[in-house]
Amino acid sequence: MIPSTVIVVGSGLAGLTATIQLLGQRIPVLMLERFSHPGGNSIKASSGINGAPTPFQPIPNSDSVAAFHDDTVTSAGAPLVAASGAEKTRRQNLIETLVGQSSGAISWLADEQGIDLSRVAQLGGHSFARTHRGAGKKPPGYDIVSTLLGRVTGDELFRMETGRRVTKLLREAGGQVSGVEYTYVRDNETVVEKAYGPVVVASGGFAGDARGLLARYRPDLAGIPSTNDHREGTQPLLQEIGAAVVDMEHVQVHPTGFVDSKDPEAAVKILAAEALRGEGGILVRGDGRRFVNELEKRETVTHAMMEQAKEFPTTARQWDVNLVLDEGAAAALQMHLGFYTMKGLIRQTTVGELAEEIPLLHGALREYVDVVSEKTKDPFGRQSCGHWTLTEVLPESRVYVGKVTPVVHFTMGGVVINERSQVLDGQGQPIPGLWAAGEITGGLHGQNRLGGSSLLECVVFGRIAGDEAAAFYQGLDGQCLASS
Ligand SMILES: Cc1cc2nc3c(=O)[nH]c(=O)nc-3n(C[C@H](O)[C@H](O)[C@H](O)COP(=O)(O)OP(=O)(O)OC[C@H]3O[C@@H](n4cnc5c(N)ncnc54)[C@H](O)[C@@H]3O)c2cc1C
Repeated sequence: MIPSTVIVVGSGLAGLTATIQLLGQRIPVLMLERFSHPGGNSIKASSGINGAPTPFQPIPNSDSVAAFHDDTVTSAGAPLVAASGAEKTRRQNLIETLVGQSSGAISWLADEQGIDLSRVAQLGGHSFARTHRGAGKKPPGYDIVSTLLGRVTGDELFRMETGRRVTKLLREAGGQVSGVEYTYVRDNETVVEKAYGPVVVASGGFAGDARGLLARYRPDLAGIPSTNDHREGTQPLLQEIGAAVVDMEHVQVHPTGFVDSKDPEAAVKILAAEALRGEGGILVRGDGRRFVNELEKRETVTHAMMEQAKEFPTTARQWDVNLVLDEGAAAALQMHLGFYTMKGLIRQTTVGELAEEIPLLHGALREYVDVVSEKTKDPFGRQSCGHWTLTEVLPESRVYVGKVTPVVHFTMGGVVINERSQVLDGQGQPIPGLWAAGEITGGLHGQNRLGGSSLLECVVFGRIAGDEAAAFYQGLDGQCLASS
């Protein structure tokens, strides 16, 4: 029997991108999503998506694929350096594919899907401004996901079933993946059903799986708050049918999750987007001193926060750090600031009003404005001050401040894929009929993902996975995939 559809597991950016590629070739798609609402973590993305070179980058634009490649390799660090042979080649191919197709990914979103990506910020670990978002009021994750959802929902070849949790991948005797088993609740009963067809898995990472995969691979992170709601990782489902996993111990602890004064010990926190630092924001300790180049890689900033703030009292596993913006940085981030102030996470105040609460802030700001006006070099090596405009620090100088602490955020590890998004087994062989894209996959980012490169991997490898699954489906004519 010829399968009637390709199955896409997960309705985040990777799944939606693969779906658009499939529908573009008039191939039916069944999307299975475990939650009642689509969008996954993709819909929460707040800083943007990387691409180089693009027409939206500041002019003159000296950014290049080579520069983006070098930044990604530097950020990936030890796992890439230590790899050898076929594993090294595989990792290098993934990085080359990511950065080489980044410009095309931006134009696919902007030109073909009509998404505004005209604002560009420089995030940590990047040597150029290359993280794109829109100029309007919508955060980038919401804008991208809602636009793509709008594209697919009207298509007669597309069917999305929410509240469906995929629990098993089905495999034929020959080894080919032939479909999935999934569960859902109907009239208070758990129903188990099967769907048949080639499968693209785009079910995201495990940074929200505190009691499961995180506890297993990184027990030392227990108790550190997270930006991710509880959701169990799906890598084990693929391992059950022989897929290999890699880098599972590499978990990104993002430096800045907001501490909400109404619920300071909340286990799930709202992310303070990296764009806040990229557009000019600085980090100061509880007493007001700066202590790090805020545009260093995330792992470096997080480490500095945990080290520097040691001498201050911590609550549970949280650290006492303030994020401070001036009016210039705030103006570049109106959409973000509106949301964060509405939530009570950032407040507008003056340097004078903060004098008692953060005693050394005035001095730290005076030192920093000398860096901004290029009177001195930044002692921490910061090169770009974004849109910071404050040049004279007075008691009445207006600033925006919020408390932040490191948060578990993203998992670099996951199932092993090649540059064709094929899922590989322990011998490095593709498992026929199975592709994966997005945060479920591992090895691309090594020990540290650059901000903006996750949305990018969803688009780049989601498109590849969709095209590969389409070609496979079209070549299936006459083959028997399902036994029922
Ligand atoms: C607050 C926040 C801000 C971020 N900001 C940025 C940013 O600005 N730029 C950037 O590049 N990255 C950012 N990231 C990271 C990025 O958003 C994610 O890594 C990326 O969106 C993952 O996309 P995905 O499609 O792989 O998975 P998701 O978007 O997480 O989608 C996976 C979907 O699969 C579903 N699913 C899981 N298991 C099953 C199952 N068994 N059966 C059926 N469905 C299942 C989930 O419910 C989910 O809807 C941010 C992350 C967070 C949490």
